[in-house]
Amino acid sequence: MSEHARIIIVGASGRMGRMLVRAVAESSSAVLVGATERAGSEFVGRDAGELAGVDRCGVAIVDQIQACAEADLVIDFTAPVATLAHAAFVAEKGMAIVIGTTGFSAEQSQQLHETLSNSPVVMAANYSVGVNLALNLIEKSAQILGNDYDAEIYEAHHKHKVDAPSGTALAMGKSLASGRGVNLDDVAVLSREGITGARESGSIGFSVVRGGNIVGEHQAMFIADEERIEINHIASDRMVFARGAVRAAGWLSDQNKGWYDMQNVLGLNE
Ligand code: NAD
Repeated sequence: MSEHARIIIVGASGRMGRMLVRAVAESSSAVLVGATERAGSEFVGRDAGELAGVDRCGVAIVDQIQACAEADLVIDFTAPVATLAHAAFVAEKGMAIVIGTTGFSAEQSQQLHETLSNSPVVMAANYSVGVNLALNLIEKSAQILGNDYDAEIYEAHHKHKVDAPSGTALAMGKSLASGRGVNLDDVAVLSREGITGARESGSIGFSVVRGGNIVGEHQAMFIADEERIEINHIASDRMVFARGAVRAAGWLSDQNKGWYDMQNVLGLNE
């Protein structure tokens, strides 16, 4: 692949799309060659850099990926149906893809895997480097601390978030359960209300806060009678996800076909 990975950002006027254009502009190893929006968007025709609040980059937003210049890689933070269509294009052209879109149904997820079975893919529910490091630390902590410590996960997000607990809180629960050698589904307590009875040993409890413009807070707690260990992550700007995705794109440029996540990108599971 060339020295600079040639990147198309789909959904370039979205909240994450604009951040991604900025993150590519900041990167020394990637160059933006294409940008798209859904057909009918008021932003079609606009310069992607200017819209993202950085310098004009000479890449006009188009309304279909087929109209973009030749590229090595697509970064996609859009919506499940759109991502499925982009995946078909990526597979046909022999390109790579970094997927940040969330909310796929089981059926859509299976279709995505089938479509991209011969492509290099990074897909992660959270591209923050810090969150991915935290997931790794949580798994190791759970391995060492075992069931003697009561494990609880707390998360807080802005008032517009529609799902709970967050995908990242569930990912933390999975890491914790995996460190203990159990399935999260068998031990998760997703909410508590009324006469719940005493805490069951080995369970993993979740609590959720919603309000204001909180970008994302996550905490895993290991609680014993004499001490408490907390692994805490606070995101204060969505740019953290965009920088992580562009880092994933740089890493993916050197990989063969396969399905990877941020643990692979950061070399945390070697
Ligand atoms: P958004 O609604 O602001 O942006 C999505 C953009 O995609 C919109 O501009 C929309 O017009 C565009 N789009 C839709 N269909 C399209 C198509 N066919 N072609 C081109 N563009 C199309 O949403 P957002 O907050 O930027 O989030 C987008 C996705 O990224 C969501 O699924 C969200 O959950 C996910 N997300 C993931 C992470 C992560 O770290 N993995 C972080 C933040 C957001």
